[in-house]
Amino acid sequence: MKKMEDYVRTIPDFPEPGIMFRDVTSVLQDPDGLKLAIDSMIKLLDGVEFDVIAGAESRGFIFGAPIAYAMGKSFVLIRKKGKLPCETVSAKYDLEYGSAEIEMHKDSVKPGQKVVLVDDLIATGGTIEAAAKLVEELGGEVVKIIFLMELAGLKGRDKLAKYDVASVITYD
Ligand code: 5GP
Repeated sequence: MKKMEDYVRTIPDFPEPGIMFRDVTSVLQDPDGLKLAIDSMIKLLDGVEFDVIAGAESRGFIFGAPIAYAMGKSFVLIRKKGKLPCETVSAKYDLEYGSAEIEMHKDSVKPGQKVVLVDDLIATGGTIEAAAKLVEELGGEVVKIIFLMELAGLKGRDKLAKYDVASVITYD
């Protein structure tokens, strides 16, 4: 039987020379890969009590929404700046070159709600750290952060030391 990592295609030098890009399209376009990915991420939530899944644009949407559906929870969006139509809160974070900004609707997380953050991959951890801050600004509690893949060498977990973090596949 194929393991999760067997479905991930690695593209050297994308989007820049020296980067080994872990491609999830090869997971998604195989029905068994897609099922294994969602089922494996759901297993990471064994015993976790929560109300809401928040997914980071855009691959966090792909994995987060089916997990929320399967577990009978709601799904809320963490989007790049300028995409959400209602009142938002926003957070800036540093990229290798420059910065980025993400937003959530103010009413997407209610004070006291327990929130699980989902993305396809953690690299430096900047995106999900900013997302956690937004959830907390809205009064939510980040009870777990899950990824399909983790690039451990970039030490993204160091930024998330105060959170419970889990991933299905870890690359060195
Ligand atoms: P971070 O903020 O942790 O440095 O970067 C994580 C974000 O960049 C995630 O939203 C993720 O989708 C994207 N990303 C960075 N590197 C890769 C990669 O190798 N593969 C995929 N699929 N996404 C990546």
